[in-house]
Amino acid sequence: MAMVHRVRLGTCNTYLVQGNSGYILVDAGNANREGVLFDYLKKKGISPGQIKLIVITHAHYDHVGSLSAIKKVCQCPAAVHAKEATLLREGKFIMPPGTSLLGKTISSIGKRAAWTGFFKYSPVDPEIEITQEMSLTQFGIDGLILPTPGHTEGSVSVVLPTGEAFVGDLAVNFMGSVFPPFAENPREIMMSWRKLARLGVNTIFPSHGPPFGINLIKNKIDSRVKSLRPEGQLT
Ligand SMILES: [Zn+2]
Ligand SMILES: [Zn+2]
Repeated sequence: MAMVHRVRLGTCNTYLVQGNSGYILVDAGNANREGVLFDYLKKKGISPGQIKLIVITHAHYDHVGSLSAIKKVCQCPAAVHAKEATLLREGKFIMPPGTSLLGKTISSIGKRAAWTGFFKYSPVDPEIEITQEMSLTQFGIDGLILPTPGHTEGSVSVVLPTGEAFVGDLAVNFMGSVFPPFAENPREIMMSWRKLARLGVNTIFPSHGPPFGINLIKNKIDSRVKSLRPEGQLT
């Protein structure tokens, strides 16, 4: 089991994953929350310079809000999928459609609220643009960054060989639900879930809500497969 710290920056969990020669940080939380991370590092005796890379699971305002401020202090590169890089460079956020009644309501309010500046964050020019699976060994981590689209087209997860997956908003864990309330492509969510299951992932670390066992999403995949099977067919 890898050494993992969960640090909540605003509404978003960020994860510090310890490697051989330092840490990587997965996601950077809401804007103006960098102080929470720096206080946490101080308490644990970790210097900001020990963070070797920040992986952005996707360019949503609650995952990149403090990225610019954290990067300035840690002096480390940021990695994001190429499909999200322009948004990050321009400090932009696109509200995805809702996948449930609640999600649809919030999504339409969110689209209208964009002009208030609520979703604003400082733009960042990412050093690394991910286009395919990428090993993290050069950053001292035995693990990889894996494209896992669905919530957004350029969503990625960090997967460790010990079975932990840091998935951003590919899955959530609140109000009894693991399916994200917003998604650009809900069908792809299931495909990305399958990808993680096939890789032998055992624990999902979501950005919203506490970690949970892979069985919760495996059950969802199974029930979806059953519901698509023609009536009366036995397996
Ligand atoms: Zn998101
Ligand atoms: Zn989020």
